[in-house]
Formats: sequence, structure tokens, C-alpha cells
Amino acid sequence: MAAYSQLIESIGRQREAVIGYQSRMTAIPALGPDNGGTGEMPKALYLEGVLRDLGVSDILRVDAPDDRVPDGVRPNIVARIPGKSSRRLWILGHMDVVPAGELSHWKSDPWKTVVDGDRIYGRGVEDNQQAIVCCLLIAKQLRELNLTPDLSLGLIFVSDEETSSHYGMHYVMKKRPDLFGADDFVVIPDYGVADGSFIEISEKGQLWLRVEVTGKEAHGSRPHEGRNALVAASDMILHVRDLESLYAETDPIFEPPCCTFVPTRHEENVLNINSLPGRDVFYVDCRLLPGVDHDAVLASAREIMEAVAERHSVKVDVSAVVNAPASPATSPDSEVVRRLSGGIREIYGIEPRCVGSG
Ligand SMILES: [Zn+2]
Repeated sequence: MAAYSQLIESIGRQREAVIGYQSRMTAIPALGPDNGGTGEMPKALYLEGVLRDLGVSDILRVDAPDDRVPDGVRPNIVARIPGKSSRRLWILGHMDVVPAGELSHWKSDPWKTVVDGDRIYGRGVEDNQQAIVCCLLIAKQLRELNLTPDLSLGLIFVSDEETSSHYGMHYVMKKRPDLFGADDFVVIPDYGVADGSFIEISEKGQLWLRVEVTGKEAHGSRPHEGRNALVAASDMILHVRDLESLYAETDPIFEPPCCTFVPTRHEENVLNINSLPGRDVFYVDCRLLPGVDHDAVLASAREIMEAVAERHSVKVDVSAVVNAPASPATSPDSEVVRRLSGGIREIYGIEPRCVGSG
């Protein structure tokens, strides 16, 4: 118990280390190719170096081949620190971040951290560098205090979390299922709230749709000769919400408690104002409650869009660009949730709450 208090207390004094790790990681934009980037390798190499400097010797890489990035692979780091028991606590963080978006909406350079009191700003500092920093701090303090934890520890830093995990955790699970014991604990500090009271036990499935509308291009002055794909696509966008009534089930652990269907990205169509667009492409981000059949949603989306297409005499093609159904929820009564809840009560003095995330 003395060692435990010592560890908790010393981790609370790591402000400078947190700022240092965060600043160095933020300066290495790790964007996957689906987000227009060149992958996570430079960030992975930095983190491997940090782990080695912290005396972690058991580090392996489970790299997923991906010829769209210059290194040809998407790196996944697995670092293990032995404990008194072979039973392991895994903590998982993801290295990739989402794009910075419209730069003029930032008050500072997204790739340079800014520290303001107890806040730190920069792309990725929360999602998900806070998790990686927590892992590094544990490794650092175990070493500095020369402690051997009761449970063995496993730290995993993955790629590709923001765009399906296909080259990240899915790949690690597929290639190295032997790494994980049946009674191991797994904690993924990704979604959360500032006071630390949320324990996420379930996540909605992810179905991203691409809708391509094909009409007929014409001069803007002669619309009767064309079939306007933009107008048809706009009508379809308004009908995306028809999916809400078809899939209206709810689960109160989620906020919002229902499936969501949100038109998001729209591709550029014609470059000039005096052309009637013959092709238009937009995307829909669907987040589906566990148990909702993704194929059924895809079929419904096709049916709805095809009915609109018919009215506009255009063609439509609806395809899934990401299709990741939800995993079964973790039971609120499971040992990992009970132990984590105990830790939250003890350290923060608050009552944790089991929630789902979208
Ligand atoms: Zn995340």
C-alpha cells in the first residue's frame, strides 16, 4: 500500500513530463492515409525511443502492411512490463489523430502545444495522447521508484483508430491473439469527461456511407438538357433522416440514446458556376446501437436513395466505406469495471458511471 500511495503521489507531480511528451507528440502529425496523411511511423519511432529510455526492454512491433504510406506499414507498438502476477493489465492508446480542419478556426498552430494554466491545447492532446502519456508516466514512475506492480502491465499504442482500426487493433488481434490472456484486464482511456467519472462499457457501430449521384451535365443556361445531380443529391440528403424512424430503438446509456444518421462530407462537383453538375457525391456518418443490423441499414439507405433518384431521373450508388459493427458491451458487473470503479472512487472521490459512446 505504501508503494501504491508513493506511485499515485509521484504521478501527480509529473506536470513537466506531461507537457514534454505532449509537445513532442503534437509536433509529429500522425494522420492516416484515409485522412490525407502519411501514417504514424515517425510518432511510433519517437514513442519506441521514449519507452526504451524508460528502461522498458520488452517492446515488439506488430506492423500492418499498407502500401498507401511511405513506410509501407502502419506501426503498432506492444510494450510489456513484468509484474508479480502473469495476469496483465493492458492499457491501449492510439497514435493517429484527426486532421486539424480549418486552420483559421484555431487560435494557435494545431501542431504546436500551447499551455494555459492547467490546460494544454494542440491537435491530439486529448484524443488520444492523454492515454499514451498516462502509459508513459506509469512506466516512468515504476522505474524511478523501482516498483514491481502486482499485475503485469501491457502498453499498446496503435495506428488507424480514427478510420476503422483495420490497420491497428484489428490487425494486432488477428496477428497476435497469443499476446492476450483470457483473464487479462483491458482499459482504453479514450472517450471520457473531465472529472473522470465516465467508464465507457459500450460503443455504437460505425457505418459510413458514400452516395454517388449520376445525372447529366449541361450548360447552366440550358437546364432542360441536363439532369442536375446536385439537386437530386440535396433531396437525398434531406431524406437521410428517414432512417431515424426506421431504426428508432434507444438505449439510455448512450448520449444521444438512439442511432444517428448524419450527412457530413460533400465532394466538389463542377468548378464553374455556369455548369449544371452531372455528378455529385456526399457521405453519411451512421452510428448504430449494438444489435442493429448494418446490412439492413445499408439496404434501407439504398431503397430510400433509389426512390429519390427515380423522381429526379438520375442514378445513385450507395456503398459502405467503413463498416464496423459494435462489439458486445462490457458488463457493469465485470471485474475490470468493478476494479476501475474502485480506483475512481478512491482517487477522485466521486461515483463513476457506466456509459456508452457514439
Ligand atoms: Zn480516440
